[in-house]
This record gives sequence, structure tokens and C-alpha cells, in this order.
Amino acid sequence: MALIVKKFGGSSVATTEKMMSVAKRILEEKKDDDKIVMVVSAMGDTTDELISLAKGINGEPYKFPREMDMLLTTGEQVSIALLSMAFQTLGHPAVSLTGPMVGLQTDSAYTKGRILDITPERVHEELNKGNIVVVAGFQGSNSLGDPVTLGRGGSDTSAVALAGALGADSCEIYTDVEGVYSADPRIVPSARKIKEITYSEMLEMARLGAGVMQPRSVEMGEIFKIPIHVRSTFTKASGTIIQGDYSMEEKSFVIRGVAHDENVTKIAVLGISDTPGIAHKIFDALAKANVDVDMIVQSMRNIEKNITDMVFTVSNDDLTKAKEVMETVAKELNASKVLIEENVTKISIVGAGMLGNPGIAARMFGALAKAGVNIEIISTSEISLSCLIKGGHVKEAVNAIHDEFFPNR
Ligand code: ADP
Ligand code: ASP
Ligand code: MG
Repeated sequence: MALIVKKFGGSSVATTEKMMSVAKRILEEKKDDDKIVMVVSAMGDTTDELISLAKGINGEPYKFPREMDMLLTTGEQVSIALLSMAFQTLGHPAVSLTGPMVGLQTDSAYTKGRILDITPERVHEELNKGNIVVVAGFQGSNSLGDPVTLGRGGSDTSAVALAGALGADSCEIYTDVEGVYSADPRIVPSARKIKEITYSEMLEMARLGAGVMQPRSVEMGEIFKIPIHVRSTFTKASGTIIQGDYSMEEKSFVIRGVAHDENVTKIAVLGISDTPGIAHKIFDALAKANVDVDMIVQSMRNIEKNITDMVFTVSNDDLTKAKEVMETVAKELNASKVLIEENVTKISIVGAGMLGNPGIAARMFGALAKAGVNIEIISTSEISLSCLIKGGHVKEAVNAIHDEFFPNR
């Protein structure tokens, strides 16, 4: 007997036909005594469509985060009802449950909630009755009982957290690609499927833009020590295992992959005085508004006049808030100008093998130079190196870096 959590993303359940074929595959592969919990996303682009609908009321709908969650949670609810009907139509008992019904409790950060606890007794009860349990991903509820979503891509996190809370034997993430690749296969045709990757490398890839897994889901996997199998909904090929360590054959990689993130805005505050406390004023104001700041560069413009520029990046999702904050701060600091550039992309290489391997940075910069791409900001972590570039050259830049580290065999 195995208890398995299987998550299906939006493209896997985009139509009722796709739902029927998912249900058929599950029943074909299921052993008699297996207990199956399905976690599903909203159908196809439903979440985007719901956001557009809200924009018809107000151009900045995230000003009403509670109402956004009331709206967005409906997408997953449609999927679970239909998929449960699909199983029953095929002759297997099934029951659909929302996030709150499986005891998924969150904080009150509407639209980017964090899971506080899961008390999945109802899931065990339904499994013991012989049901396949179909759970709405992406959602839970706060102490008031309000629906709260877990941020875009949050069904991954629902699945891994539920697998942890249930003590599941495995967690499988089914999607529209065959696993985690050395770069986004939609951008890099020669990208290679990765057989095994550690939680820490996958977390870094995900944070740096590899949208195949929500970063928090990888954190959950590490906390619960659950191996995560990322694989295709549409083929039976084995995918990528995300786990704590590698088997020996996989240890030789220096770079595991190239990630890119177009959801980035560059903000430059020009002509501020170079005195103690200035950086604190800027970043404290942003932190108080809950804006996550990423790359930061301070550059000296005029040594005699003690004038400096501060350049940093934020996620496009926080741009409205960041603009409001910077208007006030720029006045306080008497800055000469605030420049905002939305059309930028962060490209990164990730790999634990970078530690103690000199020359990796030079190779990445060389690849960009050969492709004629200018680097605007560089930042590093222990296992990654990132360059900010102007938009418009993303495909060439990502391919050039990928070719450097993963030459065609
Ligand atoms: P789902 O709806 O199943 O959650 P997503 O669209 O969220 O699917 O994630 C799958 C997509 O992630 C792929 O179609 C692919 O374009 C993208 N992606 C980005 N980086 C990677 C990567 N390194 N490996 C695999 N897929 C990636
Ligand atoms: N439907 C949500 C989204 O599109 C959650 C998910 O698919 O994981 O972000
Ligand atoms: Mg996803």
C-alpha cells in the first residue's frame, strides 16, 4: 500500500477531455490498495482570466487582496468538482475537497499566504472510505475562515505540504514538460532533462525564475524530507527527482542550470548625497511597505560633491508599491531623479559545484560578450551568479550561456 500525492497543473487539466485522460491514467496506474490524493490547479489560463476580469473593475485589483482571493479560489474549485465527477464516471469513488476542508491553515497575507499548519483528518477519513481525494491547490483559509491563496504557482506548495502532513510515500508533480531541465525548454531547445537535483539547487533555480516549481514547494519538500518527482502529464517518461543529495554519477556537474526572470524592474535613484543613513532610509521604507528588494548597486557619481546613485531591482508584482514609496523617499532625500526601467531580465546560472571552481563567472560574462549583450548589474550567492540585462535579447543571452556550460554533445 502506498499513499501518493499527485499534483496536476493548469495545462494538464485545461479541458474536460484532458481531465478524463488524467483520470483514466490514474486508474490504470493505481494498484488496488494505493491511496491517491490529487491536488489540482485551475483549468488552463483560468487564473489569468480571473485576474483580467478583476481588472475590468479596477486597473489595480491587488489593492483588494481579500476580494482577489475570494475570486481566484473559484478557479481551483471548478477543477476539483469536474475531476471528481470524471473519476466517478469511470467507476471509481472520489470526493472533492477545498483547501479549508483539508485543514490547510494560512496566515492572513491575502494573495501570498503562507501555510501555518495542515490538519488533514478529513483526507484520511475519505481515503479510508476508498475514495480518491481531489484537493484544490493554491488555497487555504486564515483564522477568520477567509480564503487565502498561496501566490502564483501555489498548487505545487499545496501538494508538497499536504504530502508532508499526510506522511505520504511520495509526491509527484505532473506538468507540461518531462521534468526540470537545464534551462526553460520553451526558450532553449537544447536544454537537457535533469535526472536528480538537490533541494537547495532547485530552490535557487526556482527563486531565480525557473517557473516549473514554486520556490516554497521546494522548501516544504526539504522540511518534510519528501522526494519530489517532477514529470509529464502527457508521457510516461521518468522525470526529475528533487531530493537531499545526489547519487554518485550526478555529482560531477558544476552548473546545474540556467534560469531567467523577466518579472523584474530596475529602479535607479540618482543624485543622492553620499552620507551615512541614506541606504537605510531607502530600503527601510521599501521593507516597511513589504517590497522585496533584490540586486543592489551603489555607485559613486561625483566624489567632490559627495553625490551617489543607488540602483536596485524589485519584482514587477511590487512595482506599484515601490513607485509610491520611492516618490516620497526621493523627495525626502532630495534626489535629482528616479528612473524606472521595466523591460529588464535577470539571467542566472545555478550549481553547488560553483563553490571552489574559479573561472565560472568569466565564462558566463564571456558568453554574454560574444552574444553582444551588455551586463547592467551582477550579483552572486554561494551557488548562483546573476546578471541583469536589458529586455529584447533574452533568448540569445540565455542560449549563449546555456551553450557555454552545456555544449552540444
Ligand atoms: P503547471 O501549470 O503544470 O504548474 P507551469 O507553467 O507552472 O506548469 O510550469 C511548467 C513550465 O515551466 C514549463 O512549461 C516551462 O516552460 C517552464 N520552465 C521554466 N524553467 C524551466 C526548467 N528549468 N525546467 C522545466 N520547465 C521550466
Ligand atoms: N492557479 C494558480 C496559478 O495559476 C495556482 C497554480 O496553478 O499553481 O498561479
Ligand atoms: Mg506551476
